Amino acid sequence: MVLLDGKQTSNNIKQEIAVEVLKIISKGQRPPHLAAILVGSDGASMTYVNSKVKACERVGFNSTLIKLPENTSEEKLLNEIKHLNQNSEIDGFIVQLPLPKHIDEDKVLLAVDFNKDVDGFHPTNVGKMTLELPCFLPATPFGILELLERYKVETSGKNVVIIGRSHIVGRPMSILMSQKRPQGNATVTLAHSRTKNLKELTLKADIIVAALGIPEFLTEDMVKKGVTIIDVGITRVKDASKKNGYALKGDVHFEGVAKKAAFITPVPGGVGPMTIAMLLKNTLLAYKNTTQTK
Ligand code: NAD
Repeated sequence: MVLLDGKQTSNNIKQEIAVEVLKIISKGQRPPHLAAILVGSDGASMTYVNSKVKACERVGFNSTLIKLPENTSEEKLLNEIKHLNQNSEIDGFIVQLPLPKHIDEDKVLLAVDFNKDVDGFHPTNVGKMTLELPCFLPATPFGILELLERYKVETSGKNVVIIGRSHIVGRPMSILMSQKRPQGNATVTLAHSRTKNLKELTLKADIIVAALGIPEFLTEDMVKKGVTIIDVGITRVKDASKKNGYALKGDVHFEGVAKKAAFITPVPGGVGPMTIAMLLKNTLLAYKNTTQTK
């Protein structure tokens, strides 16, 4: 069994980006700049945003964190987005999800300038991705493709089962892996909460991407020997033995499934750090797009 080490791989990617940033600075140009908007004080969201800001610092990017209170109006948030769209010093930005219930996420998504949409969630980027045009790929699927590439996991002609059809992970993953591309050319099945015969499907899968958010859902009896497992799930589960009172669990029962797997991602240290690395990669791309068109 080979562990798909997202922590190490993401560190390698960050190192590569840092080298590019040094080259940019040595030419007397400003470094790329990522901004993040966080509305409210959800624990997990704060952790994610802080890791993104820290990652920016590590590679030499500028970063701006805009923290807004939970009761921020939709209008105020849309106004912040407008400012970021117009600020030529900011190459890309993200609005950390989920947003408080009184804010319409779709409206927010549409308000982001797609040229700065480094999360790859804007319909223009989703459309371009579907048509295989240059765009920002959504960071989590992008990170999974990168992990598969760097570990040379063959995907062409393989049976891939993706569990979960969210707009940010499962669905784009299914589109990307079915395309004619490196880490594509797979025969993809997209499973979801209404899928009836999931175990039958997963038992035939060469590669399984689990992105449903149910801790340890995929068990040893559901997979065949030699399978490749990508565990996207991150759920905080109460654990009194941990200092912070919780443990992070993936969607895969790691101990059981790892015994049968050829390749498997751990949680934590698998897909999560890759997502952050690809956000940086998208920001660098946004920077290059703007500086090259100036
Ligand atoms: P989501 O929560 O929006 O949707 C869950 C999906 O799982 C739905 O499409 C649903 O149909 C499917 N599902 C639910 N129960 C199912 C079942 N019993 N069988 C089959 N399918 C079922 O999904 P999401 O936002 O993609 O998040 C999924 C998990 O991935 C969460 O734990 C989330 O925290 C994690 N996540 C991790 C990263 C990362 O960087 N590692 C990024 C995004 C999301």
